[in-house]
Amino acid sequence: MNIPFVNEPFTPFAVPANKEAFENALRKVESELGQEYSIIIGGQKITSTRTLTSVNPAAKDQMVGTIFQADQELAEQAIQTAAETFRTWKHTDPNERARYLYKAAALMRRRKHEFSAWMVYEAGKTWPEADADTAEAIDFMEFYAREMQRLSEPQPLARIAGEDNELTYIPLGVGVVIPPWNFPLAIMAGMTSAALVSGNTVVLKPASTTPVIAAKFMELLAEAGVPDGVVNYLPGPGSEVGDYLVDHALTRFISFTGSRDVGLRINERAARTAPGQKWIKRVIAEMGGKDSIVVDSESDLELAVESITASAFGFSGQKCSACSRAIIHKDVYDEVLQKVIERTKKLTMGSPLEAGSQVGPVIDDKAYAKINEYIEVGKGEGRLVLGGGTGDAQGYFIEPTIIADVDPLARIAQEEIFGPVLAFIKADTFEEALHIANNTDYGLTGAVISRNRKHLEQARREFFAGNLYFNRKCTGALVGTHPFGGFNMSGTDSKAGGRDYLLLFTQAKLVSEKY
Ligand code: GLU
Repeated sequence: MNIPFVNEPFTPFAVPANKEAFENALRKVESELGQEYSIIIGGQKITSTRTLTSVNPAAKDQMVGTIFQADQELAEQAIQTAAETFRTWKHTDPNERARYLYKAAALMRRRKHEFSAWMVYEAGKTWPEADADTAEAIDFMEFYAREMQRLSEPQPLARIAGEDNELTYIPLGVGVVIPPWNFPLAIMAGMTSAALVSGNTVVLKPASTTPVIAAKFMELLAEAGVPDGVVNYLPGPGSEVGDYLVDHALTRFISFTGSRDVGLRINERAARTAPGQKWIKRVIAEMGGKDSIVVDSESDLELAVESITASAFGFSGQKCSACSRAIIHKDVYDEVLQKVIERTKKLTMGSPLEAGSQVGPVIDDKAYAKINEYIEVGKGEGRLVLGGGTGDAQGYFIEPTIIADVDPLARIAQEEIFGPVLAFIKADTFEEALHIANNTDYGLTGAVISRNRKHLEQARREFFAGNLYFNRKCTGALVGTHPFGGFNMSGTDSKAGGRDYLLLFTQAKLVSEKY
C-alpha cells in the first residue's frame, strides 16, 4: 500500500445524517439479535451440546446471541488445524497477507456503524465509545498490514565482499489469541491481525461476554478471503478450553489482553514445557492499570477537570487506561474536586441505545458485584462525595462515583476496580504527587496537567508509565500515534499499534551465502 497510514476519523454524531445512519445500523442489528453462532475450525461451522447466551448489559433480558461452546476435544482439533494450515500460510507472500487486511479494513469501514451497533448491544458502549472502537480496529488492520510490508523489506546489514547476507522475519507458528471484552472489536481484531499478517495461524478464544462481535469479525475475515484455518474461532470456558490451549505442545505463542490474575496464570502455565514441545512459548500480555492524573498547582484547571472526567468515566471506567486516581496539589485540591463533581453530575446515565447516553452499564453481574464491593470499601477509606448508587435495574448500571481524601496506600488507590470509581488524593508538593503516582504495582498510563516546564520535564523522566500524557486525558491512545502498553504488572512491555509490535509475532532468520 503506497498510501501512508492515517488514523480513521471519528464520526461527528452532531451531523444529522450520521445520527440517522447510526440509528439505522442499530435497527439492523436489533433485527439480527438472538441468532446462533458456531465454533469455526478450518472454515467448518461446528455446533456442540453446550451453549452460552450473550446479553445486552443495559437490558439483561435482551439476548444478543447464542454461542456454541467448545470442549477440549474441539480445542485439540483447532490446534491441529491451525498447525496444519501453518505449513502453507507461513510461506505466503507477506504482501498477500497484508492485502487480506487492507481488504478487511475496507469492508469494515463500509459497514462501520453496523460493527459499532453490535458493541452498543453486546458491550454496552455509548455511541462515541463504540465508534472509536471500530475506528481503532480499522487502524490496527491498516497499520499492521503496512508494518508487515515494511518488515519484509531487506533489513540493513553490514556488507562484506564475496558474501550475500539476508535477514528476514519469519512467523512463529500457532498462536492462541485471548482478547478482552472491553475493546471487543479493536483489541480482538488488533491481536488477531498482527498474528495472521506476520504469517502465524490463530486459535481465537473470544471473551465470554462479547463473543458475537468476535463472530462478526470472523465473518469479515472470511469475506476478505482469508483462507480457512488461518483463524479458528473457539469460544469456551477459560478454565477448560483456555488452559488446554495455553498448555498445548503445539502452541508457539499466546497473545493475551485482560486481567493481571489471568495474565500471570497464563505466563506461569506457558513457562512449563509440555511433552513433545520444541520451543519456549512466547507470552505477549497486556494486563491491568491503576492510572493517575496529576494536577499541578500551576495548571489549567478546566483542562484538568475535563481530562479527569473523561478518563475516569468514559465507558464507565472499564479501560485499563482509565484514570482511577486523581492526585491533586493541595493548593488546587478543593477547587478541582468541586469542579469534577459538578462536571460529573452533568453526565447522563442510561441505555447506550440512546444517542445522548454518556454513561452506560458495566459489563456483567460479576463486574457489577465487584465494583459495588469496592464502593463499600471506598466509603470506609475516604469521603463519598458523589455517586455510590446504581441505576435502572434492567441493566448493570453504576453511578459515576467519587471518593475524596483517599490515602495513597488505601485499597481503592492500589487495586484495579475496572469501573466508574475515582479516588481523589491530596499531595503537598509536585514531587510528592509524582511519588504517589509511581506507588502502584502497575505502570500503564498517566497524565500530568501543568504549566510548569520544569515539572513536566521531571515527570517525563520520573513518571513510570508506558503511556504518559501531558495536558490531556490518559485514555484514547491512537494506533501508530500513541503505541500502547505499560510496565511492571501492566504486562510484557509490548506496544500495540507501534513499530516494535510485529517483532513479537516473528523471529529473525539470517541466511549467508558465500560466493
Ligand atoms: N488503548 C486504550 C486506551 O488508550 C485502552 C486499552 C484497554 O483498556 O485495554 O484508552
